[in-house]
Amino acid sequence: MSDTVIKIEHLQKHFGKLQVLNDINFQITKGQVVTIIGSSGSGKSTMLRCINLLEVPDGGKIYYEGKDILGGDLDVTKYRSKVCMVFQSFNLFNNKNVLDNCTIGQIKVLKRSKAEAEKIAMEHLKTVGMESFAHAASTTLSGGQKQRVAIARALCMNPDVILFDEPTSALDPEMVGGVLDVMKDLAKKGMTMVVVTHEMQFAREVSDYVVFMDQGVIAEAAEPEELFGHPKEERTKQFLSRYS
Ligand code: ADP
Ligand code: MG
Repeated sequence: MSDTVIKIEHLQKHFGKLQVLNDINFQITKGQVVTIIGSSGSGKSTMLRCINLLEVPDGGKIYYEGKDILGGDLDVTKYRSKVCMVFQSFNLFNNKNVLDNCTIGQIKVLKRSKAEAEKIAMEHLKTVGMESFAHAASTTLSGGQKQRVAIARALCMNPDVILFDEPTSALDPEMVGGVLDVMKDLAKKGMTMVVVTHEMQFAREVSDYVVFMDQGVIAEAAEPEELFGHPKEERTKQFLSRYS
């Protein structure tokens, strides 16, 4: 039996003439935290967006639990509830309060009753330390609070994988730690996570595997001690030197 949740083979993506992803291969194993690092423009978001089908790849395969998600017969909404995305800009529904943000997907996609959805939402809001804000309007929250609600909302869907695209990049510095702590807790509990981040300390401490992207390719990938401690490629060394 394989523990592979997502497998990517020979993934290609162009925007016009610009090749943004070039022969990307990697897999995500159940319970693993994979971080993706690399300069701005290297293709990190596009890769996550391909996995979540927010972009359609123009070559290669993406398998979710062995099934080719580009095969055409996928229920995309259901798939996105299993492979959830947390965005840099939170993407909360601004016209809804915190609790409703966390229940709407459960009611619409998972067909849970309102009462059940609210119960589950409160549990996850508690996990992220936001239960006392359940009835607050989303617009009144700080960035860090919004991101914690976005994570609770993802958890409510009972996902197999959460994809995080620079979840702390839009936050004021004093908000970053709280969000990273929530993510560390999730990792400890065994959540399968793919995290695009510039937080090198987090990547080093929390990941099982680190992928360094450069100009649309995976330039180097290894366990964190190896990648941070003994990078092999010149471009990895150069990139990391900017953070030390
Ligand atoms: P990263 O997340 O690593 O900063 P992105 O995946 O966002 O990189 O972008 C990779 C490259 O693709 C960049 O050159 C970017 O300008 C380009 N790109 C991203 N999205 C689009 C798009 N929708 N249309 C055209 N070019 C895009
Ligand atoms: Mg990006």
